[in-house]
Amino acid sequence: MKASLIKEKLFIAGEWVETDQTHKIYNKYTNELFSEISMADEEIVEGAIGAAVKAHKQTVFAPESRYTVLMRVADFLNEQSEAFAQMIAEEGGKPITDARIEVARSAATFRIAADETKKLVGEIIPNYNVQGRFLYTVKKPIGVVAAITPFNFPLNLVVHKVAPALAAGNPVIIKPASDTATVTVKLCELLEKAGVPKGYVQCVVGSGSTVGEQLLQDQRIAHYTFTGSPEVGKHIQKTIGLRKATLELGSNSATIVHGDADIEKAATKLAKMAFAHAGQICISVQRIFVQASVQDRFMEKFLQEVALLKVGDPLDPETNVGPMIAESEAKRVESWVKEAELEGAKVLIGGKRAGSIFYPTVITNVRKGMKVFDEEVFAPVVTVSSYNSIEEAIEFVNDSKYGLQAGIYTTDLKLTYQIPYLLEVGGVVINDTCCYRTDQMPYGGVKDSGNGKEGPSYAIQELVETVTVVVNLEE
Ligand code: NDP
Repeated sequence: MKASLIKEKLFIAGEWVETDQTHKIYNKYTNELFSEISMADEEIVEGAIGAAVKAHKQTVFAPESRYTVLMRVADFLNEQSEAFAQMIAEEGGKPITDARIEVARSAATFRIAADETKKLVGEIIPNYNVQGRFLYTVKKPIGVVAAITPFNFPLNLVVHKVAPALAAGNPVIIKPASDTATVTVKLCELLEKAGVPKGYVQCVVGSGSTVGEQLLQDQRIAHYTFTGSPEVGKHIQKTIGLRKATLELGSNSATIVHGDADIEKAATKLAKMAFAHAGQICISVQRIFVQASVQDRFMEKFLQEVALLKVGDPLDPETNVGPMIAESEAKRVESWVKEAELEGAKVLIGGKRAGSIFYPTVITNVRKGMKVFDEEVFAPVVTVSSYNSIEEAIEFVNDSKYGLQAGIYTTDLKLTYQIPYLLEVGGVVINDTCCYRTDQMPYGGVKDSGNGKEGPSYAIQELVETVTVVVNLEE
C-alpha cells in the first residue's frame, strides 16, 4: 500500500510555520518520497529559542497541568498507534511489529513522566551542627532544553527527552534526526491538541551541522539532552562548555553465554536481538562470548535461528530484518565485513548486501583491531568468540572503549551477584541479552557510551535546579 505524501510545517511558538525550503524524507524500503517538511533556517531557530525563553520566563506551567497534558498525549498516541507505527516503518525502515512496540512504549513513557510531576519535591536538611538556621531545598525547572535525537527510535527517544523536560516544567526545542523527522512533527500535533502552553514545545527540522550547531552555540539554552553517535556527543560536550548535557551514545554491546546456562534458550533469544531493527540499536548484541565447553551446541542452534529470520519489507508483519537507514550505511558495513575477512575473520552466514538491505551476518575468528569487533557496527552483524574462564569473559567485555549495557546467561547465583560490580557498563542484564530496555529503568552508559541516565525519574533530576534555601531564624 502506498501512503499519500505527507506535507508538514514546523511547530514554533505555538504556531504552524511554513518555510520556502522543504526537507524531503523517503521511504527507506521503496525509496519513494514519503514526506516533505518545512526546513528551519537561522531565523526560525532564533524564533524557536526566543519563544522558549519567553515561555520559561512568563508562562506558568503548573505541575497539575503538566500531568494532564502528558497523560492526554499518551491517550492520543494510543488512539493513533497504528498510524504512528506505519510512519516509523516507512520513514525509518523499522519492521512494523517493532514499530508497534515503539509506539506503545512511547505512550508508557509519557505516563511514567506524568507521574513524576507529583514527585518534584525538595528536602529539609538536618541541622545538627548549625544553630538558628533552617535549611531546605526546592527544585525548579532548569530552563530551555534542547533535545537532539537519532533516527533509530524516532518516537520513543524523542519522548524520553520531551516528556521529562515538560514534567520538570521546562520548554523544549526538538531537533529530530533529518531522516525520520515526520514522526516528531506529528507528535507535536498531539502535544498541541493536548494543550501544551505556547512556546513549551518547538520542533526545528534541519541538519545537525546547521540547526544543531545553532542550538549548541546559543547560551540561552540551559540543558542539552542528546542521543546519537559518540562523535557528535563529544562535539556537543566540547561546544557547550560548562552547560549541562545528558549524552546517550553508542556501544559495541556484549552478551556472555556461560556454560551453566540454558544454551538453546540463549541462542534463540540472541539470534533475535542481534538483528532487531537491522542491528541499529545502541544496545544491539554485537559481541557474543560463549564458554568454550558449550560453543558447538550454541553455534548449531544460533545459526539455525539466524537462518530463519525473514528479511525484507518492514510493512510485512512477518519481517524480522528490514533495510538499513541508507544504502551508504549498508555499503559501509559491507566494507567492514570484507576487511575483517581479509584479516582472517570467518563469515558463517550472511555477509551479503542488496541495496540498503544487509543480510544477518555472523562472524567468528575475530580479534582486536578489527572494526566489526572494536567499533560500533550499528548493522545486522554479530561476532561470536569463545572463552575459558569467566574472568577471561569479563576482560573481553571490558576491553572496549564503550560501556552501555552487557548481558549474561548463567545459573550461578554468586556470579549474578558479583558481575554488576565487575563489568564496566551502565546496565547489566542477567539471563537475557544486553539488548533490553524498559522505559522506567535508569538507562545510560559509561566510557564513550556517554553520561547521565534516561528513564523519566532519572532524567528529570538533570532537568531541575536544586536551590538551597537558608533561613536565618535569629533575625
Ligand atoms: P548522529 O550522531 O549522526 O545524529 C544524532 C542527531 O544529532 C541527529 O539529529 C543529527 O542531525 C544531530 N547532529 C549531527 N551533527 C550535529 C552537530 N554538529 N550538532 C548538533 N547536532 C548534530 O546519530 P544517528 O542519528 O546516526 O544515530 C545513531 C547513533 O545513535 C549510534 O551511534 C547509536 O548507538 C546512538 N544511539 C544511542 C542510544 C543510547 O541511548 N545510548 C540509543 C539510540 C542510538 P541530522 O542527522 O539531522 O544531521
